[in-house]
Amino acid sequence: MLATKSVKQAHRPNQETLELLDTFRRMVNDCIDIGLASNVTTLKRLAMLSWPRRRQYGCPDCYKACAVSRAAGILAARKKSLRRGIPTKNPYSLKPQITAYRGFKIKNATLRIPVGKRNFLFVPLISHIVSALSDPALTVRSFTLTPTSLSLCISKEVPEIECADAIGVDRNLRNLAVGNEAGVTHYDLSRTVRIAETTVKVVGSFKRNDSRIRKKIVSKYGRRRRNRTQHLLHNATKRIVTEAHERRQAIVLENIKGIRRLYCKGNGQGPKYRGRMNAWSFGEAQRQLEYKARWVGLPVIRLSRKETRGTSVTCPQCGERLQEDRRIRRKLWCGKCRVVMDRDVVAAINLSRRGRLRFDRSRAKRGLQGRAVETLKRNPTTTVILRADALKPSKQPKTWQNL
Ligand SMILES: [Zn+2]
Repeated sequence: MLATKSVKQAHRPNQETLELLDTFRRMVNDCIDIGLASNVTTLKRLAMLSWPRRRQYGCPDCYKACAVSRAAGILAARKKSLRRGIPTKNPYSLKPQITAYRGFKIKNATLRIPVGKRNFLFVPLISHIVSALSDPALTVRSFTLTPTSLSLCISKEVPEIECADAIGVDRNLRNLAVGNEAGVTHYDLSRTVRIAETTVKVVGSFKRNDSRIRKKIVSKYGRRRRNRTQHLLHNATKRIVTEAHERRQAIVLENIKGIRRLYCKGNGQGPKYRGRMNAWSFGEAQRQLEYKARWVGLPVIRLSRKETRGTSVTCPQCGERLQEDRRIRRKLWCGKCRVVMDRDVVAAINLSRRGRLRFDRSRAKRGLQGRAVETLKRNPTTTVILRADALKPSKQPKTWQNL
């Protein structure tokens, strides 16, 4: 399968390049205008219709071609939103930038970009990008230049790993619980909650009643907070993917889309609690896990809403609905097994099990060829108990129990 990601470095272009960025922006906007006026979204038609306008611009020809493809992409996204019934404005790009898939060259750790006739801009690449590019299987697809940064989009063809096992990733506000029956690891994220709280406090401490200054302050501290939380998430997700890759375990993710609806005004929760829950970046964790797993060829199983239901309140051993233990936070009690369990551990085990079921089913569909048969023989299909898909109690290892 094809895996894509981007690498980025800070870069401040000179005046000449900045003008080129603005020319590109105007060209894209022209193409969008033409596309909207004649109701065209296909690349070919748009290229034909916009050529008379584009040819008047004085910039290298490669950018004239890339501008159309960028405009076509924007128009296609708009069309998709309209089809889904999402209210959309007419797109117009304000920020000067160039996204181009041709005309550039990378040699001796330097990126060469045409700026004018026989005139080039040379950008020395940082060591992080150079080491990322050293992989021979890699192709550089495009570059994006903005007034503050340069990023390269890279891709490679990765063979998918055959996995015999799966681990569930349960995303919580303060941690990520990752694992299966053999053991669950907690990745602490409580610092992200603290960072969010401090940000709210700092922003609230500025009392000037001026919306322009407020906007500046909020965006500055918001950026700082995003950078700090993203860094923590990157550390956790990298470790999760590396370990899963070593053990050849597929990653199972729950579907918690629509969770924000639980924390709306009028649900009987306090503003602080709602603020905390709505600042939770569960989507970012999923995005990072997915692209990192794809980059190494590890399959990611996304459970549906229906498959996710009840993962954190069902006993992994007997399938009974668990009772909340009021005295200890995030602990659950199974009346049938008479065991107290950790909520996150229960969720991770249930997720891994449901993911494995999906896995077995898809293997059965593929006709049990080759190595799939081998792994199945060694590791017989997970026993299914109604409602909970749990293993037989005798087979259950004791490690996860929290007695
Ligand atoms: Zn039980």
